[in-house]
Amino acid sequence: MERILVSACLLGSRVRYDGGAKTSDDELLARWREEGRLVPFCPEVQGGLPVPRPPAEIEGGAGGAAVLEGAARIRTPAGDDVTDAFLLGARRALAAATSAGARLAILKEGSPSCGSLRIYDGTFGGRTTPGQGVTTALLERGGIRVFGEDRIPDAAAYLAHLLTARGGRRW
Ligand code: SF4
Repeated sequence: MERILVSACLLGSRVRYDGGAKTSDDELLARWREEGRLVPFCPEVQGGLPVPRPPAEIEGGAGGAAVLEGAARIRTPAGDDVTDAFLLGARRALAAATSAGARLAILKEGSPSCGSLRIYDGTFGGRTTPGQGVTTALLERGGIRVFGEDRIPDAAAYLAHLLTARGGRRW
């Protein structure tokens, strides 16, 4: 079966920095969950951060790739450097996806870990900028396609492509 790595907060787990969830009511996600296709994962919790925890943003609004390359750090509003926990969570997310055989992921948009099209700009002023989170950047380096929760139809099209492509799995 083609498995899909999914941000745990989208599936109702209360793992966000503020102790809440961002539960999706998307019907496709619900169907895939019933099929046993989903692999829930929270990179920040798996990287060792507590719930709740301070918010964090990538300095300068740099993308996750810059963090992976050591060119940008991730900090809380108090200036605490939480980069290492984010990197550990990203590595564990890639390991979880690889071990499940997942070739796509649906992750929470905007997060410094899970964002795929936009992240916050590092000022804690509520402004976003185009860019990826750290986990997304590492997953994509590992060949795993990442879609935000607002792009589930695109994820479904990619899943259909995987299921029908030569050498793909039938289910
Ligand atoms: Fe959700 Fe990802 Fe943040 Fe965890 S790290 S709470 S899965 S957006």
